[in-house]
Amino acid sequence: MKTSTPKRIKKREFVPIFKRTVLVFALILMIVYLASLLLNSSVFYSESASMNALLHLDRDLEVANNLADEHFDDLYAIADQLQYADSKSVVDEVVYSYIGDDRFGDLRYYSNGQTFSAQGTVVTTEVNDALYALSESKKAGATAVYFDMVVEKDCIALFVPVRGSAYVDGLLSILPARELIVMDTVLNETACCTAIVKPEDGRILSGVCADDFSTSLGSNLYDFISTLTSDNYAVQSVTETISNHEKGTCTVDAFGVSYTVAVAPMDTFDGHILLVSVSISDQLTEMERTFINHIISVMAIAVVALIVSLVYAILYYRKTRRELSEALLTDPTLECANDEQFRRDALRVIYASKSNYAIVACTVRQYGFLYDNLGEQKTIEMLKYIVKVLESSGSGNETFAYSGDGKFMLLMQHTSDRAIRGKIHLFEAIINKLDILRETHTVMKFNVGVYHVFAGVRRRTVPEMMECASLACDYAKSNVNDPFVVYTETVNAEIARGEKIEAQMETALENHDFKLFLQPKYNVARDCIDSAEALVRWFDPNRGDYLFPAEFIELFETNGFIVKLDKFIYMEVLNYLSRAAERGEKIVPVSVNVSRVTAMSDDFLDFYVGQKKLHRIGDGFLTLEFTESFAMENYEKIADIVEVLHNNGMRCSIDDFGVGYSSFNILKQIPMDELKLDRLFLAAGKDSARDRLIIEAVMKLAKSLKMSIVQEGVETKELFDLVVGLGCDVVQGYYYAKALPLEEYRIFLNSNTSIKYKSLVK
Ligand code: C2E
Ligand code: CA
Ligand code: CA
Repeated sequence: MKTSTPKRIKKREFVPIFKRTVLVFALILMIVYLASLLLNSSVFYSESASMNALLHLDRDLEVANNLADEHFDDLYAIADQLQYADSKSVVDEVVYSYIGDDRFGDLRYYSNGQTFSAQGTVVTTEVNDALYALSESKKAGATAVYFDMVVEKDCIALFVPVRGSAYVDGLLSILPARELIVMDTVLNETACCTAIVKPEDGRILSGVCADDFSTSLGSNLYDFISTLTSDNYAVQSVTETISNHEKGTCTVDAFGVSYTVAVAPMDTFDGHILLVSVSISDQLTEMERTFINHIISVMAIAVVALIVSLVYAILYYRKTRRELSEALLTDPTLECANDEQFRRDALRVIYASKSNYAIVACTVRQYGFLYDNLGEQKTIEMLKYIVKVLESSGSGNETFAYSGDGKFMLLMQHTSDRAIRGKIHLFEAIINKLDILRETHTVMKFNVGVYHVFAGVRRRTVPEMMECASLACDYAKSNVNDPFVVYTETVNAEIARGEKIEAQMETALENHDFKLFLQPKYNVARDCIDSAEALVRWFDPNRGDYLFPAEFIELFETNGFIVKLDKFIYMEVLNYLSRAAERGEKIVPVSVNVSRVTAMSDDFLDFYVGQKKLHRIGDGFLTLEFTESFAMENYEKIADIVEVLHNNGMRCSIDDFGVGYSSFNILKQIPMDELKLDRLFLAAGKDSARDRLIIEAVMKLAKSLKMSIVQEGVETKELFDLVVGLGCDVVQGYYYAKALPLEEYRIFLNSNTSIKYKSLVK
């Protein structure tokens, strides 16, 4: 039989994170890549040229403004001195003292609408209105460029207000326009030329050109532009920009070279002066271009990295998926196919083939006990061995899977139930040769459920077929001697009945629907009632009738409910006996059935012995019946149990002797008090002289071992005579009495009816 092998998956949880990371990474790269494409476009270049020109010019402005601010600061220092001047002569004196200080231009002061020289004489200027406005506003500021008659140059007057003195309103420094700014300090690295310009007429007040710039600035910016280009439109756009007194750029194309002219008004001089730079556009964008080139190379590397990681991710993902699906189809411990793999294989095989198949569910019998006895390690070893055996035995399309908890699913080519049975027996024989099983005296057996799949008949899906095989297998559990069940509709109905019983059992126990019946036993020698056997009946309130143990005991043994039920019946018996004793009623010993499951449960002895004591039941009044099959399988256990029970005044009986195992050994080895011969054992002796001899021998042996012999199922006088003739002490059966409800039993016991049965012996 074929089955696949698993591979463990490491870091399975890593996959989604990894996938997400790759996705995000890819997304970011895409965005950056698109952005870089945009950056790379010519639109960006032209924009970046003017942007860069303005950026550089801003830096120049800062330098220029700082220089001018320093100048104003120096003027303020003098103005501070002047505010306390209490006469014109003090003003004159202070101003005069700064003559020759090369930080200032021609120093003057403004008072009552007039400008005075440092010598205190009135000076007439063209910008008197502007000075008046500044004086009124009481703010520092500058006038426009004008031709100063005293200095005899184009000048600008810087005004600083003086507050507090009646003799002076403001201090003036008249600076020649050329000297306003040290042009070299503001010529930036990208500009060909920088100039300060009078906005009104484009006059260049001062300017400087880079060494390698061949053309000279001249005295007017418009003229200068005209020397660069004959393009009127360009000249016009420069004119507009300049006369707007605003920050701006324009482009001039001259002899195949693109120039960017950037203009910005100088704040410190109240915008009366413009700072202008002329740069070659390409140079301005070169830096960006290098930067972009860098980005592009990084991008290229990143794209390659992305592709590599994507390929890796895809490969990894595929591998993981493959491993994952393999893992999903494999049992991790036994490393063979699981149910899901089986379902797929079976589907493929069944639907493609014209042969008949059988789906066989096999569970290791009493897997829980076996697991407890062997321990985990050895159980796994055993299961692995089973896998090996199954692997080596299959042919053609046959396959198998492990479903967990000691359960295997087999797909077998169908021959006959006998053949399937034979094959399973063969598996069991091989598996039981395993050392760990032999050493621990453990016998591994399968419960087997078979579902036949006939070619061309498609009544169920594969999972349904598997379910049917499993149901049959569960059902097989209850059949101790032959745990082999073929799924049929009858079996299905039986399973459904079982499910119904299971659904009702707990409530029935709570409601006291389980009733104690007692079947009197007849003592041959004493000719009277000997004892009674407690037998359970389940009252069904819906039917108004009783269910017999045959209908539910096996099921309860399978699902474990029998432990509760056995204890319940035992308690009912104890309650009855103790109450009857209290009332002074006649009582005889009672036998109680103990299931194998109950006997194996942990608190079995504690409970049975403890409750007997609690109920103050006298010694010899209680007998516990263990089936022969249980005693056979658990020699040591039963020996211990018997010893404890004897020590606590209880009797022990071997029930159902003669069906199945029948061994003399058990009689020899375990000191039982009573031997109960099964009804079928008796039936055998009726017809065959040989069987009769065996029965006689068993009885003799039991007697020699001081065991009392009880024959069950004596229905007729004929049988009664037979067993009495064989030397049986006690007879149980309909011939003497049926199992009676407790109340009827009490009446039976206390009436003198036993006399009536004297006739039985005759
Ligand atoms: P068992 O222990 O062998 O009980 C004897 C069965 O034979 C009883 O069946 C009884 O009614 C039946 N019987 C008695 N005399 C005759 C007769 O002359 N002819 C025939 N054909 N049958 C006779 P019942 O009560 O149906 O119980 C069946 C089995 O269920 C019992 O067999 C016992 O193994 C099990 N059982 C009954 N009560 C309990 C219980 O409380 N706990 C456990 N664990 N098992 C119980
Ligand atoms: Ca019994
Ligand atoms: Ca019996």
